[in-house]
Amino acid sequence: MSDASCLFCRIVAGEIPATLVAETPHAVAFRDIAPKAPVHILVIPRRHVTSLAVATDAGELGEILALAARVAEQEGVSDTGYRVVTNVGEDGGQSVGHLHFHVLGGRALGWPPG
Ligand code: AMP
Repeated sequence: MSDASCLFCRIVAGEIPATLVAETPHAVAFRDIAPKAPVHILVIPRRHVTSLAVATDAGELGEILALAARVAEQEGVSDTGYRVVTNVGEDGGQSVGHLHFHVLGGRALGWPPG
């Protein structure tokens, strides 16, 4: 299931360029185009899922989170620490309507986020 008008579906399809760093059968990880930390990777499901609010496939979610941890290891931030976060809806600050988990690291991250 793919949405032709969705930016991240188009990245998955290879129609819009992105720097892929890892992939699994159901998930893809690529560099954020406007990084907010030295390491900033987005991990997304291949199929179109609008946000965590409507994500129901526990296997798919597990695969995404496992890939996030693998990417953090690959990027060399496992020992120093990192953050995995997903924004949901308007108040959550979600700007792209395709589920994505940010993997942020490489510097001390403030808490709580602004
Ligand atoms: P959010 O605001 O949580 O929806 O996150 C969307 C993220 O997608 C932002 O951090 C953007 O910088 C990032 N983004 C937008 N367009 C692209 C793109 N073409 N390639 C990679 N990352 C993108």
